[in-house]
Amino acid sequence: CGIVGYIGNNNTKEVLLNGLEKLEYRGYDSAGIATLNDDGINLFKVKGRIAALRSKVETDDSFATMGIGHTRWATHGAPSEENAHPHQSTTQRFTIVHNGVIENYKDVRNEFLGDVTLHSETDTEIIVQLIEKLYQELGDVVQAFREAIALLKGSYAVALIDAEDQDTIYVAKNKSPLLVGLGDGFNVVASDSMATLQVTDRYMELEDKEIIIVSRDNVELQKLDGTVVEREPFTVEIDA
Ligand code: GLU
Repeated sequence: CGIVGYIGNNNTKEVLLNGLEKLEYRGYDSAGIATLNDDGINLFKVKGRIAALRSKVETDDSFATMGIGHTRWATHGAPSEENAHPHQSTTQRFTIVHNGVIENYKDVRNEFLGDVTLHSETDTEIIVQLIEKLYQELGDVVQAFREAIALLKGSYAVALIDAEDQDTIYVAKNKSPLLVGLGDGFNVVASDSMATLQVTDRYMELEDKEIIIVSRDNVELQKLDGTVVEREPFTVEIDA
């Protein structure tokens, strides 16, 4: 399973598909991507191979410069197109990919999402529905994202996009791998630098329970209480 994200000026579909192909070795049963442009979110999901996802994506000629992608290793809900990521909140404002297991997803659902109709059997969907619910209360996406993440128990690497904002990918991690790759006029997100070494060799590590707000020419690392964290990037050495 794995995650890729891209925000820049080039064709995000190609970066995401190439990245997911590089993550195939981690194993998966389904895959999907979501891209965002002026027409809104474009969602592509398949059960099965990345090659099938590529075929599906290539039948569509939309162009977008940001997006997120996922390979799934099902833990909650059978491998299927409905359970494949990305998952969306009810209004489709928020779209998420997640690797890991949310141990308290039933508690979160019972406590916060009693009136929400879920569209999948995954533990992941409760994260994106919770973000939407908190956003409706708080009116601030970063704050809603931090507060939602703080309520989760278990392992997660997540990347979230907001249909109203083509300039930001929100990322968080706990006990699942996730890196942010730094480029010139673009940035990427990946479970493993191998997914995105073609585009950059400079990466920033996240520690558990940190979030990072990624835009085209900036990244901001924060703790879950909103404190800003400074961290030096490192360069991945490629063995010849
Ligand atoms: N627990 C999530 C699911 O079953 C994510 C699995 C993964 O890490 O791919 O959909």
